[in-house]
Amino acid sequence: MGSEFKDAVAFHQHLCLDIAIGYRAAKVLVSEMGDQLKNMKEVVALVGNETCAVDAIQEITGCTFGKRNLILTHIGKPVYILQNTATGTAVRAYCKYWDTFDHSQLRALRKETKRPDASPEAKAALQKKTEEIIDAILAAPDSALFSISEVSLPPPPKSGKYQAEPCDQCHEHVDIALLKDKGGKRLCTECLGTIPA
Ligand SMILES: [Zn+2]
Ligand SMILES: [Zn+2]
Repeated sequence: MGSEFKDAVAFHQHLCLDIAIGYRAAKVLVSEMGDQLKNMKEVVALVGNETCAVDAIQEITGCTFGKRNLILTHIGKPVYILQNTATGTAVRAYCKYWDTFDHSQLRALRKETKRPDASPEAKAALQKKTEEIIDAILAAPDSALFSISEVSLPPPPKSGKYQAEPCDQCHEHVDIALLKDKGGKRLCTECLGTIPA
């Protein structure tokens, strides 16, 4: 296990299949982007779904939610993109590994270990199988894991800075874009939920 992968696992705080996928995705994107990553202030990572893989993307690329250069696109696909927002150049990796992956063995082992009378042998077997798959993911050629393409994307919207005004009910300050009119009042999302439709 390479030290960078160990760092990703340490950040994520457990070893799992998707942290290995995220690690491989981050590595291939970084290598394909090359010089486009010279100024990381111009770079954003776009992730299509919320999985363990995203923690590896954060650890390896340094793009994080807190720095607002990690963007969840909610497209519901294992698609990971690094984009240089100054040049527009972006590399996209779709993880195709799961499309043909046979989950049956893992599923059976997981079911086995969830029984109240699960044996230590069953737990060891699941652990062993998981590690085998992780080793396979770490050793696989990029082309077996991902469809990789260069794409051109519009720059992502600037986030993090917003104009805030108080909600008419709780009087807490909220992003004005998220205030909604209801019964003549402008309400925040939390207060909207407390008023019957
Ligand atoms: Zn995980
Ligand atoms: Zn409110």
